Amino acid sequence: MVKANENYLRLQGSYLFSTIARKVSEYTAAHKDQADHIIRLGIGDVTQPLAPKIIETLHGAVDEMADAATFHGYAPDLGYQFLRDAIAKEYTDRGCEIRPDEIFVSDGAKSDSGNIQEIFSEDAKVAVCDPVYPVYVDSNVMAGRSGDWDPAKNCYKNFIYMPCTADNDFIAEIPKEQPDLIYLCFPNNPTGAAITKDRLQEWVDYANRVGAVILYDAAYEAYISDPSLPHSIYECDGARTCAIEIRSFSKNAGFTGVRLGFTVIPTDLKAEGGVSMHDLWARRHGTKYNGAPYIVQKAGASVYTPEGRKQIEGQVAYYMRNAKCIYDGLKDAGYTVYGGVNAPYIWLKTPDHMTSWEFFDYLLSELNIVGTPGSGFGPCGEGYFRLTAFGSYENTKEAIDRIVSKG
Ligand SMILES: *Cc1c(COP(=O)(O)O)cnc(C)c1O
Repeated sequence: MVKANENYLRLQGSYLFSTIARKVSEYTAAHKDQADHIIRLGIGDVTQPLAPKIIETLHGAVDEMADAATFHGYAPDLGYQFLRDAIAKEYTDRGCEIRPDEIFVSDGAKSDSGNIQEIFSEDAKVAVCDPVYPVYVDSNVMAGRSGDWDPAKNCYKNFIYMPCTADNDFIAEIPKEQPDLIYLCFPNNPTGAAITKDRLQEWVDYANRVGAVILYDAAYEAYISDPSLPHSIYECDGARTCAIEIRSFSKNAGFTGVRLGFTVIPTDLKAEGGVSMHDLWARRHGTKYNGAPYIVQKAGASVYTPEGRKQIEGQVAYYMRNAKCIYDGLKDAGYTVYGGVNAPYIWLKTPDHMTSWEFFDYLLSELNIVGTPGSGFGPCGEGYFRLTAFGSYENTKEAIDRIVSKG
């Protein structure tokens, strides 16, 4: 009889957002009259429609597909040159030394951040922040790097967990035990924390010193409002020899349903024995992926046009107005709140020592608001709660009014 991949059997519980969805549907089934009253500030999905420039480009690209002379079949494995050039230009404009051939276009940052571990050794030691975007953890469990689950500590035995709490401003500190792979995400999901260039430089220096690789998820770079903060890890000296950066069009341009992202692997990044990680990823991409759709890559390139850029900035500003509304409203109501300034996430301390799930149940049943329990992102998230700025302004304001008036 065929055996399942045992690594998968080590995965804990169901995916956080499935649990939330189940709880919400159970609640609405039992309280049908309240179903329309529920405001969702839980999952990190955008709600604004695609910008006009993107829609116009999509239409144009669809029309091209209708004519044999302009039809496009399989895309180049690693992405169309027009898109890789546009992305590389943005890096060089920011002073980062990145070439178009170091950019790998994909269908999004979730797949890339889940798949990237494949090109590293099976026994690579993995360090993750706690709390963390669950994909980094689960993809390494599936690959067999986790060791057993430790129910007493609520974590996997072989991972290095780097606590991110109010005490360290939610910025991971260099761990005592030495990792091979370090997952960092800034601006951070779920805590909304952003890292300064000096702190990021410390990580880059450390990784170069010990021969580790930083997997840097910059899905939220467009939300940075403080001009002193780095948008890319390649703004740090020496990052070309130790860092892989993953980005997405989902949160800056609303592509969550369109699907487009990319990963940057500099050719200077080498593993033991001088192995080029760039070449391994190119091989992996070419074998397992047949390219993001032409239509979508055209739309992606339109994000870098002056018109596209301007429209997208407007959308980010819309969400950041929501973030400010949540942050200020909760603060005035006496909550302890973090994030929300350089990220579309507000991370709050649950009141009255409630657990994260107790506060989730309270918000759902008393106020009909759906958020995300901090404990779902890791043991250090216990006692915290995440609200997102991705709703409509009207809904966001209404949700905060409900919380404030409940006082
Ligand atoms: C939303 C998100 C992504 C996923 O982006 P897609 O490109 O839509 O797959 C990646 N990383 C983090 C931290 C995210 O929050």
